[in-house]
Amino acid sequence: MSIHFHSLKIKEIKKETDDCVSVTFEIPDALKSKFIYKQGQSLTMRATIGNEEVRRTYSLCSSPLENEWKVAIKKVEGGSFSTFANLSLKKGDMLDVMQPVGKFYVELNPENKKKYLAFAAGSGITPLLSIIKTTLQTEPQSSFTLVYGNQSRSSIIFFEELEGLKNKYLQRFNFINILSRERTDASINFGRINTEKLVELSKLINYSSIDETFICGPEEMIFSVKEFLEQKELTKRKFILNYLLRLDRRSRRLEVRSQKQTVALKVI
Ligand SMILES: Cc1cc2nc3c(=O)[nH]c(=O)nc-3n(C[C@H](O)[C@H](O)[C@H](O)COP(=O)(O)OP(=O)(O)OC[C@H]3O[C@@H](n4cnc5c(N)ncnc54)[C@H](O)[C@@H]3O)c2cc1C
Repeated sequence: MSIHFHSLKIKEIKKETDDCVSVTFEIPDALKSKFIYKQGQSLTMRATIGNEEVRRTYSLCSSPLENEWKVAIKKVEGGSFSTFANLSLKKGDMLDVMQPVGKFYVELNPENKKKYLAFAAGSGITPLLSIIKTTLQTEPQSSFTLVYGNQSRSSIIFFEELEGLKNKYLQRFNFINILSRERTDASINFGRINTEKLVELSKLINYSSIDETFICGPEEMIFSVKEFLEQKELTKRKFILNYLLRLDRRSRRLEVRSQKQTVALKVI
C-alpha cells in the first residue's frame, strides 16, 4: 500500500476540555475509499510549525459506522504539534494527513458474545471510544467495561459521549471512572489505576470472564494492568497494548517502536 499525505479540510474543531480539542476532517468523495478505517486506527499528520516540519500520529475517536473522521489532541506541556492544534488550528484550515493505519483492534462479528475490557487514562481514551462505539453497535450480544482514569471530572475527555453510551447500552456498557485528584462519593472511584485499584475493581469486574482486553495510556498504567492480568492468569486472552502517551524525547522512540510491536504484544 503506497502511503502519502493528502490535504484535508478541517470541518470542525471543538474544545473538549481545557487542554484538548477534537478535530473533524472533511473527506472528499474521491478519497473516501482510501480513508476507510477500522475502529482504533490512527492518522498521521504533518504541519510546518515555526520552520520545522512536524509529523504526529493521532487515533481516530470516531467510529467507522458514523461516516466521520475525528481525532482528539491533548495539549502536552511544551509539545509542538499538540500546542499548535489546540491554539492555532481552526475550522476551514487544510492539514496534510495520511490514510488510516494501525492494528489496535480486533475483528468484529455480529454473532460474537464477547466480554471486552478496556483501561484508559487521559487521551488514551481516543482509540477506545472508537472501539467501544463500534463494538457495541456491531455485536449486539457483546458487552464492554471501560475503566477510565483522569485527574478530575473536568479533565475527562468525552465524558458526555461516554455517559450517552452508558444510557444507550444500559445492560452492555459498564463505565467506571477513576479520579486521582478529586474525591468521589465511592472510594473505589478515587485513586490511580494501579495494582491496588485493580484488586479493588474485582468487586465490579469478573476478570476471568473477559475475552479481550485493551490498554491505552501512560506506560506506568499499561505495565500495572498487564502485570496484574498476567498474575491472574489471564494471559490466554488477547491483550493489545498501545504506548500512546509517552511524552519525552526518549519515550517518543518507544511510541514508534511500540506501534510496530502492537501485534507482537497481543499475548495469546
Ligand atoms: C499510535 C499513536 C496514537 C496517538 N494518539 C493520540 C491521540 O489520540 N491523542 C493525543 O493527544 N496524542 C496521541 N498520540 C501522541 C501524539 O502523537 C504526540 O506524541 C503528542 O501529541 C505530543 O506531540 P507534540 O508535538 O505536541 O509534543 P513534542 O513536541 O513531541 O514534545 C513532547 C514532549 O517532549 C518535550 N520536548 C520537546 N522538545 C524537547 C527537547 N528538545 N528536549 C527535551 N524535551 C523536549 C516537550 O516539552 C514535551 O513535553 C498518539 C501517539 C501514537 C504513537
